[in-house]
Amino acid sequence: MKSKIWLSSPHMGGLEKKYVEKAFEENWIAPLGPNVTGFEEDLEVYLGEEVKVTALSSGTAALHLALILLGVERGDEVLCQSLTFAASANPIVYQGATPVFIDSEEETLNISPIFLEEAIKSRINKGKKPKAIIAVHLYGMPYKVDEVHEVAANYDIPIIEDSAEALGSTYNGKKCGTFGDFSILSFNGNKIITTSGGGALVTRSNSEKERAIFLATQARDKAPHYQHSEIGFNYRLSNVCAGIGRGQMRVLDKHIQKRRDMNNFYLDLFEGVKGTKILNEPENSYFCNHWLTILKTEKKSGGVNAEKLRLYLEKENIESRPLWKPMHLQPVFSKVPFYGDMVAETAFKNGLCLPSGSNLGENERNRISTAIKNFLQKK
Ligand SMILES: *Cc1c(COP(=O)(O)O)cnc(C)c1O
Repeated sequence: MKSKIWLSSPHMGGLEKKYVEKAFEENWIAPLGPNVTGFEEDLEVYLGEEVKVTALSSGTAALHLALILLGVERGDEVLCQSLTFAASANPIVYQGATPVFIDSEEETLNISPIFLEEAIKSRINKGKKPKAIIAVHLYGMPYKVDEVHEVAANYDIPIIEDSAEALGSTYNGKKCGTFGDFSILSFNGNKIITTSGGGALVTRSNSEKERAIFLATQARDKAPHYQHSEIGFNYRLSNVCAGIGRGQMRVLDKHIQKRRDMNNFYLDLFEGVKGTKILNEPENSYFCNHWLTILKTEKKSGGVNAEKLRLYLEKENIESRPLWKPMHLQPVFSKVPFYGDMVAETAFKNGLCLPSGSNLGENERNRISTAIKNFLQKK
């Protein structure tokens, strides 16, 4: 059996172990320490724009804290992009609030500014103004930042920018993760960089960061004894894991270039193949880290059947994956309101995420290319 080609697997740069060893040498085996502080500083320098970064145990925890910091409570409504990973929406429910899902637009597959505005008007008409908007840069592709933020500003609704998949992507030269009232990052195993598991909350001010750390460390009042006036969480990142993150930051831009090379490889591979399209930046103002390369197919126009291609690749021990199943189609959210049409649903039905890891070399590319060419010939 040929070795497995993964969709997106961890890719160590080499320096990670040094930072981890340092944590052991100094006995900082705790959810705080020099690596945590150093990793936060590395991210702040990388993102620029005067943001403050709080390293956390996951991107999901970061979203949860962002909702709390925005005062989202039981009974509130939060608008959320439907085409996304469940982690974007679940923390809304943790807060006892209700998600309202919004369809995507065709160009970036992210939240549609048109359906967003329609939803805001409709919810206000029904007597409840949404408390926040969760917009996602899916697969690293920036959402339509100008349009989406203009709608949000017109109705004075804050945006939580889910940049879990988009570290290193930019829009108009500005880094994703710096646009929202709050932004979040993820360092899970298959993301653009990993700390094995981890995430970060990006805030605009030091006071917001202090508040985030307070909540993430069990909300301890300033007292020598353990006193609590609020409910807190255990959401900080381990100093050992943060060491991995520090090493990963050293190779981030190199790895983004490799992911973009993978995207170019697929652009070449599918060039001229009827009914297929590789998702790409709609304009020069977008720069995508191409965390995952997305194949869009159209069965009708004689194009490729995405599921058949997935199964074919699986036989060759090559992992590919359907797009995220939209939240409004999930059994757990079957009673949740949805504003939109068929864009997310169609992308889900006809799309495929192709192997995109920064650690895929010539050998893997040859195997992928042969398998896809064989499939295209047979069909
Ligand atoms: C991975 C991911 C998250 C959650 O991050 P975790 O660190 O896995 O909790 C949130 N949103 C999106 C879009 C993601 O891909």
